[in-house]
Amino acid sequence: MSTQESRDRFAKVWGYHITAMNPQRGQGADESKPLSVNPLETNVTWEWLIRIVNRCQRHHCSTAYCLQLTKKDAEQARKAGERGGQPASQPVEERFSPQLTCRFQCPWAEQAKARVIRKLGKKWWLFEAQRNDTYMNQYNPLISLCWLANTNCPPCTGVQAVVNYAAE
Ligand SMILES: [Zn+2]
Repeated sequence: MSTQESRDRFAKVWGYHITAMNPQRGQGADESKPLSVNPLETNVTWEWLIRIVNRCQRHHCSTAYCLQLTKKDAEQARKAGERGGQPASQPVEERFSPQLTCRFQCPWAEQAKARVIRKLGKKWWLFEAQRNDTYMNQYNPLISLCWLANTNCPPCTGVQAVVNYAAE
């Protein structure tokens, strides 16, 4: 990860294996049962992969899982509570209205090709797959076809990245 050339090579190689491309964007979750099959009697087709990834790999934000206040908004909410809430006389546009955000930073921006980046203030490199679906978790098509459940396969970019992933 020490040079841009080595990072580009890493992204290119792993980009063959890990993707966030939705083969049929706009299909939405498959409400039938693409996972309740006998794998030995099911032909491996693009159509089946499309159904699996749209069923298993799309991220759905919820307050029970990933939506949270940012530290800044939580602090503002705490201070507003200490003051006894916000006075009704305060103009609506000036009232504090915290927004919940996904702790995984979803939705993720579309990307024309895979890359390795380092986010602002972070010490580790991060692989980001080619993406055409802002809610698709990265996946490996073969593993998705075999596992028939949600997977997450970020390639290891270093010890610090592993520690961060484990802490999520
Ligand atoms: Zn989320």
